[in-house]
Amino acid sequence: MVISVASGKGGTGKTLVATNLALALTGKGKVQLLDCDVEEPNAHIFLHSPMNQSQSVFIPIPKVDETRCTYCGKCAEVCAYNAIAVLKNKVLVFGELCHGCGACSYLCPESAISEEGREIGVVERASLGNLEFVQGRLTVGEPMAPPIIREVKRHIDPTSMVIIDVSPGTSCPVVEAVKGSDFCLLVTEPTPFGLNDLSLAVEVMRKLGIPCGVVINREGVGDDEVERYCQEQGIAILLKMPLDRKIAELYSKGIPLIEGMPEWRDAFLELFREVQQNAKRKVK
Ligand code: SF4
Ligand code: SF4
Repeated sequence: MVISVASGKGGTGKTLVATNLALALTGKGKVQLLDCDVEEPNAHIFLHSPMNQSQSVFIPIPKVDETRCTYCGKCAEVCAYNAIAVLKNKVLVFGELCHGCGACSYLCPESAISEEGREIGVVERASLGNLEFVQGRLTVGEPMAPPIIREVKRHIDPTSMVIIDVSPGTSCPVVEAVKGSDFCLLVTEPTPFGLNDLSLAVEVMRKLGIPCGVVINREGVGDDEVERYCQEQGIAILLKMPLDRKIAELYSKGIPLIEGMPEWRDAFLELFREVQQNAKRKVK
């Protein structure tokens, strides 16, 4: 089963939920925790394990053989990202703008374009008993997270329980990370900002046809509008976590909640059972 843990906005406790759910499940069998928040992966902080494998991720960018090129300009015309420009007798490739789509090399009438790899980040792995941890890390300044996320997800083992820590927001990296999930947990806080971003995230999940449920973090900090919204929309609230100084302290020290407050282990196992039940429901 693949469970994504997402949130419409940053700082709601998404990584707190993803790491503790994964760690609680290690007592039940094989678990994979995939950190697909590749611009700022931080699940590793709670695992205290060195990465033992690292692999670079490349995207293909065009390389022009100007002995064959007729400067016809077709490559520049087809490029949606302005990553290639054709002058009178020179072709310029702007590698940092290139999305590696391959359209220019496919359409070049002279077969003058080959491709070379440009490194945009790494995928790292670690094993901790029953838990396999995989994280993607986008090189600072690189704009394209989806190729790294796809590379992280290539490690999914269908015989494991898989937890995916998704980046915050509702943009392309989120869609790439949650695609193919059996269920998505949306972590929010009971504030007007939390509600606004939650409703956007719910719309994305509905469009993707992925069943979802809500975790309310820092219960007590705001109002009951998130609960009202969930009730109206028929979305189950599967866990509530209170605004609690000790929880915040453990998080800031990089200590998993279920280690610092073991009474939470059962709450995360119950959350998993709830997810299993709710994943069977049809998306409305
Ligand atoms: S499409 Fe091919 S031949 Fe035409 S300008 Fe580009 S590289 Fe040169
Ligand atoms: S591979 Fe795609 S994005 Fe890159 S230069 Fe060619 S057409 Fe543009």
